[in-house]
Amino acid sequence: MDILNSPNNILLQVLSDDEKRSIFDKYGEAGLKGAGAGMGDFSNPFDLFESLFEGMGGVTGMGSRSSRNRPTQGDDESYNLVLNFKEAVFGVEKEIEITRLENCGTCDGSGAKPGTKSTKCSTCGGQGQVVSSARTPLGVFQQVMTCSTCGGTGESFTPCNTCGGDGRIRKSKRISLKVPAGVDSGSRLRVRSEGNTGRRGGPPGDLYVFIEVLSDPVLKRDGNNILYTCKISYIDAILGTTISVPTVDGTVDLKIPAGTQPGTTLVMAKKGVPYLGKQSARGDELVRVQVEIPKRLSSEEKKLIEELASLSNAKTANSRR
Ligand SMILES: [Zn+2]
Ligand SMILES: [Zn+2]
Repeated sequence: MDILNSPNNILLQVLSDDEKRSIFDKYGEAGLKGAGAGMGDFSNPFDLFESLFEGMGGVTGMGSRSSRNRPTQGDDESYNLVLNFKEAVFGVEKEIEITRLENCGTCDGSGAKPGTKSTKCSTCGGQGQVVSSARTPLGVFQQVMTCSTCGGTGESFTPCNTCGGDGRIRKSKRISLKVPAGVDSGSRLRVRSEGNTGRRGGPPGDLYVFIEVLSDPVLKRDGNNILYTCKISYIDAILGTTISVPTVDGTVDLKIPAGTQPGTTLVMAKKGVPYLGKQSARGDELVRVQVEIPKRLSSEEKKLIEELASLSNAKTANSRR
């Protein structure tokens, strides 16, 4: 994976198909957590313990309820952005509308109904901890656990009507996005802190913008090079000519040298795609020359070709002598 710094607090990551597939398999569309996340990524020792505890089948509902009132980091959010061919080549500034969880204005993110007072948690009696026991092959273990009802705060509250106690609600927001020159289908832009806001004042997640580039009817992209195929007549191939070639910079004249062979590739230097992160360096446009042989000839043309043929036969006969 290539990671490049670019303006606007955006990290650009170019993922291979395999990397993309594994991220989607693991987290789905909405839950991208960066390529390296997974098991072992526990920021809080309680998370690790609770997962193990759940794995033993000891206490049900432990993982989800207990984190309810603690500050937790918001999830990452994803957005699919479709660009046309030239926008991807030269970069573009786009305004996009994203939806994500933001702090609830009614309860100011606390999740408690305004005007209500929190009361002592009845499960733990306000201690924030409970003693749990688990039977294992080595005997019964007793463990002091964070109270799952109040999440260790020792308080219980009436949930806010607007957000249902979560402290966050889904809102849409327009953000301006600077897409750097040289992106391609599969490029991923990471916009820091524009994901879902964290619970109870926790830090926000990131926004990942997945890029898809529409194809162009005549120009094909091959990494940083652009491929184009032109057709010339056999006479132009023999005598040479100048043709007009479409490029991302507009139409440009290209000299076809006399004696150009069918299938020759001519290089138009620096008419390709800028390299990501170093806009001054560009790929080339590669022009493949197809030579058209006529299927029918006028009687006059046929006569001339036959003259050419006898001329060339005489030449061959001379050289054999
Ligand atoms: Zn609320
Ligand atoms: Zn409690």
